[in-house]
Amino acid sequence: MLKRFKNQTNKQYAIIGLGRFGTQIAKVLTQNGYEVLAVDKCESKAAALSEIATHTVVADASDEATLRRLAIDNFDVVIIAIGEDMQASIVCALCCKELGAKYIVAKASNEKHAKILEKIGINKIVIPEADSALRTAMTLINPHVSEIMELEEGYSVAEVDVPESWVGDTLVGLKIRNRYNINVLLVIRADSAAVIPEPETVFNAGDNIIIGGFSEDVKQFIRQEISE
Ligand code: ATP
Repeated sequence: MLKRFKNQTNKQYAIIGLGRFGTQIAKVLTQNGYEVLAVDKCESKAAALSEIATHTVVADASDEATLRRLAIDNFDVVIIAIGEDMQASIVCALCCKELGAKYIVAKASNEKHAKILEKIGINKIVIPEADSALRTAMTLINPHVSEIMELEEGYSVAEVDVPESWVGDTLVGLKIRNRYNINVLLVIRADSAAVIPEPETVFNAGDNIIIGGFSEDVKQFIRQEISE
């Protein structure tokens, strides 16, 4: 029987599969004060998290009865971080869904795996290797792009050098939303001070900007304005 988590106001996360991905997520969540149930079929993997997670369980998470016993539907978020054993990942995802898990995030090892998880109705699917390869490739193609990230299907944020043609001008003067259909979320000055831009904030040489919008608009803006 699971002990009840202390702080009922806190969001509660269940992480299934404690490879590098699941372990890293467990660490970040607990460091930020969230309560984490960490599950792995392998005893040593679960033991490695016993000092970090709120609770660890050694169990086969592709077994519906096990997931029911863990009261998987009580967690605010379930993260299925099983990649290699695609069958276990899919069966676990299906069971979590059928048991009424509220919000499920799943790691996929490739596009086909991701497609199946999508069909099951998984809320958020990540392919860590592909995502990080895409981001690395984008920054290699264009050194003025330091980061680009797809948030949800169709939306992106990126950190880029401010275009030369913007220096000395403002958001309102440049009519950025009308011209590019993007938002400038943050301006990072050369001394690393970050500014939430006002319409009249002036862009300086050496600024970095964080932009957000529909992925196509963000990419189009980069192609058009951020010279390689
Ligand atoms: P990473 O890249 O995150 O290290 P990986 O892809 O190399 O992960 P996976 O095979 O995806 O490794 O496994 C991640 C973890 O999931 C392992 O610790 C494994 O023991 C665990 N796991 C696999 N199947 C199950 C299952 N049915 N129930 C519980 N845990 C499982």
